[in-house]
Amino acid sequence: MGVSKAVLGEPAIIEAMIQGGVKFIADSRLENISRMKAAGLSARFVLLRTPLSQAESIVKVVDISLNSEIETLKKLSYYAKMHNKIHCVILMVELGDLREGILPCDLSQFVRAVLALTHVSIVGIGCNLACYGGVKPDDRNMQGLSEQVDSLEKEFQIHLDIISGGNSANYEWYKSSHDVGRINNIRLGESILLGRETVNRKAIPGLHTQAFKLFAEVIESKQKPSLPIGEICQDAFGHVPHFQDRGMHQRAILALGRQDVLVSGLTSISGLEILGSSSDHTIIDDKNHDLQVGDAVGFDLDYGSLLAAMTSPFIKKELMDCDRNAMAAHERVFSGSP
Ligand SMILES: *Cc1c(COP(=O)(O)O)cnc(C)c1O
Repeated sequence: MGVSKAVLGEPAIIEAMIQGGVKFIADSRLENISRMKAAGLSARFVLLRTPLSQAESIVKVVDISLNSEIETLKKLSYYAKMHNKIHCVILMVELGDLREGILPCDLSQFVRAVLALTHVSIVGIGCNLACYGGVKPDDRNMQGLSEQVDSLEKEFQIHLDIISGGNSANYEWYKSSHDVGRINNIRLGESILLGRETVNRKAIPGLHTQAFKLFAEVIESKQKPSLPIGEICQDAFGHVPHFQDRGMHQRAILALGRQDVLVSGLTSISGLEILGSSSDHTIIDDKNHDLQVGDAVGFDLDYGSLLAAMTSPFIKKELMDCDRNAMAAHERVFSGSP
């Protein structure tokens, strides 16, 4: 499954995932799935997070949803019946990361209750690791999932089609394991979009790791002291900042802030150092770059920054051909066009 949430289901990007061969598009937000469907994308759509309050829309809009609560499943079945549909579900199993999932000791009883619902169909089992608890997918916990599948199939005489082992943190395990057992699916967001597996954030051979770039405009460029003048109290975010004295230095302010992006997840393309940020401003050390007001400064983004930047209404999204020269030209001058 290609996971589209980090780009809010941006149709051109998700179309590329579909062309690349993913069978399902999965997103945590119903709104993103509606957007992709409205754009005419054709894939099987999977909802990764299933709020009870959206049960009726979920049944209407998505093909499969991930679930771990019987109340929600009852509502899904109720609305599926009303709309004359069978809604497909993947049941999430808790394997130690302590985010979503049915505890293994409750699983059998849970499945029995779901099988009694008339308008939902269990098409698979899944789990999610390395998110809340940072638990690494390995042969042991993945084999645990395979064993759950075997035992449920035997107990209830059912066949489970989709055994979804996890997210981008499973990439390395999936590629290197000698025996993936019953796992036949993983849900990949970051590893497709940023070209990295997420256990060690190693680049995946053959993939682009810089498909996204963020450009910010210089709005002030001046020589200033590196140490603030006066008594230091809390900054805009409630922290008491510490500064290193580098004497007078040339520094620039960018029209970009924490309302737009996770500043800690940015890396300057030209090796410029980020000194600090507030809601709307990011301050960088100019070194010898001679930045001018109106210049554009470019950054690579990690997943958290990408997620925030794509969500910020203040950041303009532009799709470009992946051409190094075009990128370099873009960095020199901020394109003043509105
Ligand atoms: C976001 C999400 C994914 C994708 O995670 P990546 O780390 O981007 O691969 C997979 N499964 C679930 C349930 C998610 O919420």
